[in-house]
Amino acid sequence: MRNKSKFIFVTGGVCSSLGKGITAGAVGLLFERQGLKAALLKLDPYLNVDPGTMSPYQHGEVYVTDDGAETDLDLGHYYRFTHSPLSKVSSTSSGQVYDAVLRRERRGDYLGKTVQVIPHITDEIKRRIYACGNQEEDIDVVVVEVGGTVGDIESQPILEAIRQFKNDNLGHCLNIHLTYLPYLGAAKEMKTKPTQHSVMLLRETGIDPNMIVCRSEYEIPTELRDKISLFCNVDKDCVIEELDVKTSVYEVPLQLKSQRVDEILCKKLGLPFKPASLKDWEDVVLLKGQPKDSLEIAIVGKYVEHGDAYKSLYEALDHAATAQGLRLKLRLLESDKIVSKGKLIDEVYGADGYLIPGGFGERGWGGKIMTAKMAREMQVPYFGICLGMQVMCVEFAQNVLHLENANSYEIDPDCQNPIIAFMENQKEITNMGGTMRLGAFECEIKKGSKAHQAYGKLNISERHRHRLEFNSVYREAIEESGLQVTGTLKGGDLCEITELKDHPWMIGVQFHPEFKSRPTEPHPLFSAFIEAALKQKRSPLVKA
Ligand code: GLN
Repeated sequence: MRNKSKFIFVTGGVCSSLGKGITAGAVGLLFERQGLKAALLKLDPYLNVDPGTMSPYQHGEVYVTDDGAETDLDLGHYYRFTHSPLSKVSSTSSGQVYDAVLRRERRGDYLGKTVQVIPHITDEIKRRIYACGNQEEDIDVVVVEVGGTVGDIESQPILEAIRQFKNDNLGHCLNIHLTYLPYLGAAKEMKTKPTQHSVMLLRETGIDPNMIVCRSEYEIPTELRDKISLFCNVDKDCVIEELDVKTSVYEVPLQLKSQRVDEILCKKLGLPFKPASLKDWEDVVLLKGQPKDSLEIAIVGKYVEHGDAYKSLYEALDHAATAQGLRLKLRLLESDKIVSKGKLIDEVYGADGYLIPGGFGERGWGGKIMTAKMAREMQVPYFGICLGMQVMCVEFAQNVLHLENANSYEIDPDCQNPIIAFMENQKEITNMGGTMRLGAFECEIKKGSKAHQAYGKLNISERHRHRLEFNSVYREAIEESGLQVTGTLKGGDLCEITELKDHPWMIGVQFHPEFKSRPTEPHPLFSAFIEAALKQKRSPLVKA
């Protein structure tokens, strides 16, 4: 049942990739800046239980919450835009809903009844929407984003559940429908028909939009706004323009605020309205628009050609660079295409810093090892995240310790020296979904280390998603030779941070710091990496 929370449902029409997640996050921020507490929820129509087992090519990044949920990348947007609580209850797929209902059926909870989409599946969806509003006592608004596009067969049960939910909570719910206004060059006109049709499809499900946010490349003329208002039955001031951004997605909340979206939504929901300041967001956009210098970071990964596969990583780099007045140029290097005739190709050299992100499997491993070797030898800043830390340790064992056949178990299960190995409790695992070391763990940092310098404290908490670990059998040997373990699991001995002595900045972390960076609060490790890369650019230690 509903406590005091209000609910805003964000649906999408016309086509996918319009940025519903960004719009939902921006709406959450507008509430937050009025002193209201917002919570966000993503409802995904697909049948996978979570995106944890999907390829990054299919689904983009898997975003991990503190409590270890493997979720949709939109939760990353929610984190970056708001301080909404994010946990297992913030992301639900149809797969989870059906799984819960079918488990109950097997247990005998529905004995005698036929189990059906309505009411059993829709009830479970509604239960999950309420659960997001009830996760903390003082949540004022829940912003629920519905994945997919209105009209998709698989989103029908979700839309039906929302229709029922709105009926059960009259006066406490709103729908924001996000659409697209295409511009026809030949006719020199922007077209509203796809928007009208998608609103018709939405209406057929029994949901009326209260606000239509129109993505558009060009400003929407008043006549067109009036037309959308008339044909789609929304107030004139509820036809909102969301223009393609000039510098960054962080312009979106400013665009919405300038059209009084915060005030309109509060009024419609009967919430007190207080004009909110977005000064720090304006500053981010301003800084991003007027960089003083530029910086080139090379990312060596398997999924670089898929724009969403490293979403949080690109954002975290951008937050740190923008805060330091820098324009970030990314050199995206596909790790299995950077080695030719046993050597790194020329395109790899000369970046101001190198980052090897998380990843799985053996493809491109050799190129990553060679990149780490080059960064170590040429004294160029290197940031290894998760798999990138494992690469850094294996490279060191192979080329500095000269350990025979040193490798990661993931790459060569028969290697003589498994520098990276399975944890005891991972050895027996046969189920692939949700069984990694997942979620937030506390880490103790070594005093005086570069990690300590970056964080400015000795106890941190970061999020993990991996199966393998640095093998502590080799700790003494690598430390003696200059690769130090400067972060360990609190209360345990797992290696969480490694850093190279006698190098300007070569750090590996077993966790994923990119999940915890905001434009207004860049992550300290990314800031330190960008700072080191800028130093490298201004006075390279070794000329390429
Ligand atoms: N494949 C490695 C592991 O499972 C690294 C995972 C990652 O980079 N997220 O340990």
